[in-house]
Amino acid sequence: MLILCSNDDGYLASGLHTLVAAARSFAEVCVVAPDREQSATSHALTMHAPLRAHRIDGDTFAVTGTPTDCIALALGALLDRRPDFVLSGVNHGPNMGEDVLYSGTVAAAMEATILGVPAVAVSYAGEDPVGIGEYGPLLANLLPQLVEKRDFPRETLLNVNLPPISPTEVKGVCITRLARRVYVDSLTRAVDPKGRPYFWIGGGGVEWTAPEGTDFHAVERGYISVTPLHLDLTNHALLADVEQWNLHL
Ligand code: MN
Repeated sequence: MLILCSNDDGYLASGLHTLVAAARSFAEVCVVAPDREQSATSHALTMHAPLRAHRIDGDTFAVTGTPTDCIALALGALLDRRPDFVLSGVNHGPNMGEDVLYSGTVAAAMEATILGVPAVAVSYAGEDPVGIGEYGPLLANLLPQLVEKRDFPRETLLNVNLPPISPTEVKGVCITRLARRVYVDSLTRAVDPKGRPYFWIGGGGVEWTAPEGTDFHAVERGYISVTPLHLDLTNHALLADVEQWNLHL
């Protein structure tokens, strides 16, 4: 079995190295990852600049683009055979609730799913990525179980979040749905040394609506969260209602 690993924190990220080491314990592994941090690039595809892939060693490439670029290049050009599975992460930081819409880590797994390769995104829900390294043995045990279930439905990927605690304290695995998060005061306004205003997105606080059964609820209580994500964003329940609007030209 060949597993392609990628991420959005760049090929040097410690979270990726933990993922690769865990994957190597049960499969052949190749790595195609961005050459620098590409967090929060979502599903961006580079279309107005050339992309270059630098071979770091025999089976590792660093690409001058986004996580989505990495998966497209890996499958279309860099690998001499199609991977059986794609793993993305381990992201330095959580990807829960609406985060999955901004996340480059999740987007890499989505791109693989679109291209017909089953995929799992893995994120560590802590501030300090140092804790990720401890998860190596746990991931070496958990990931093969997910990979063996790889006939999950088409257009579906799995989004895994690891709680920011020692793996020895993890209580178990919860299958979850996405929570809802609201960013509070996340736009910072300030003035630069030349007196010009600037804005900085990020920071501020976060409020969660996270009832039982959601990813945030599980991770907060010391469980690993596994959320199946579907690529079809259609609100099927609303189709009949919108039909009733009788839109016409
Ligand atoms: Mn990231």
